[in-house]
Amino acid sequence: MTTSEHMINVERQYGANIYSPLPLVISRAKGVYAWDSGGKQYMDMMSAYSAVSHGHCHPRLVDVLKKQAETLVIPSRSYYNDKLGVFLETLSHFSGYDQIIPMNTGAEAVETALKAAHRWGYRVKKIPDNQAEIIVCTGNFHGRTTTIVGFSSDPQYRDGFGPYANGYKIVPYGDVDALEAAITENTAAFLLEPIQGEAGIFMPPQGYLRACKKICEKHHVLLIADEIQTGLGRTGKRFCCDHENVRPDGIILGKSLGGGLLPVSAFLADRHIMDVFHPGDHGSTFGGNALAAAVATEAIKVLEEEKLAENSADLGSYFLEQLRQIQHPAIADIRGKGLFIGLEIKREFNARHFCLQLMDKGLLSKETHKTVIRFAPPLIIKKEQIDEALNIISICF
Ligand SMILES: *Cc1c(COP(=O)(O)O)cnc(C)c1O
Repeated sequence: MTTSEHMINVERQYGANIYSPLPLVISRAKGVYAWDSGGKQYMDMMSAYSAVSHGHCHPRLVDVLKKQAETLVIPSRSYYNDKLGVFLETLSHFSGYDQIIPMNTGAEAVETALKAAHRWGYRVKKIPDNQAEIIVCTGNFHGRTTTIVGFSSDPQYRDGFGPYANGYKIVPYGDVDALEAAITENTAAFLLEPIQGEAGIFMPPQGYLRACKKICEKHHVLLIADEIQTGLGRTGKRFCCDHENVRPDGIILGKSLGGGLLPVSAFLADRHIMDVFHPGDHGSTFGGNALAAAVATEAIKVLEEEKLAENSADLGSYFLEQLRQIQHPAIADIRGKGLFIGLEIKREFNARHFCLQLMDKGLLSKETHKTVIRFAPPLIIKKEQIDEALNIISICF
């Protein structure tokens, strides 16, 4: 048995069976490349679902991580620390929101947003006790907690995990009329992804975000954007909502906020929403720790100084244009914004089969929902590397 086969077996034996990875054991990664234990090089077009937008092991971020790890890591929020304030100020200036609640994983930041929306509904909008409703979309993916999977429209994410939390309504994604029809006096918030990543890089009709904002304003409903995957430059702008000049009432960030090194997430909103929280109402042991704060501050600086959003916009449209030149009977659709691209495979073909072929030729992707292949490389990628990827893709298609 090779070392790779051994590592795969060990992972399968001792890890519960919740993932079906491609049969590859990665042992090292740098920038846009990863290497297996045998030394074979791969270009990473997954970026760990956008967690690695800065590229693997970005030297500036690794440097900050190392220094901070030797200085102060988790002082806890029972005290102030000399890194958290800097991080919050940096993120507030970057995003234009007054205040931030730092958490760790994406799902925790979504839960934070849901709590804020509920509280705001009762305290500010004066919804009767326990009557608040939150509207979400078909095809949504907001994480894996029991509350969140309870309002998923994907049976696999929810079946067998009930009973579910009450008060969530699902409307068709992209349908503005359905949203307006679902709103009642008890609606506190509408939560959406500006592009649905896990659903298969699924894009709503042009103007949808702006129309949602208008309806939410009209009915005094908070618009909350889950930009965990689409935010921080992934779609070619700071936030995906920026494409339609929409400023949601709250934004949820995660994934690349940790610079590809640590889990760092956050819920961002203005003071009139954040004021519903008081000491003891919410918290997180690791949220806002000094190590996470130092790395995330640097991650935002790198994003701005290395112009990652601009690079995503430029190379994303080039990549999309070139991909659309590829003629193959299996391709049903190619879509995306910035370096957030989905290649949809016709049902009679098998997306995983193409992912395995791409992997064999040295390009890493992963199928979503059996039919969509994702191309979302680190945003530091260069044009020559996109051409290298296109070469491999055109061999497999
Ligand atoms: C990944 C993701 C989440 C969940 O983040 P975790 O860190 O896995 O909890 C939530 N929303 C969106 C849009 C995501 O892409």
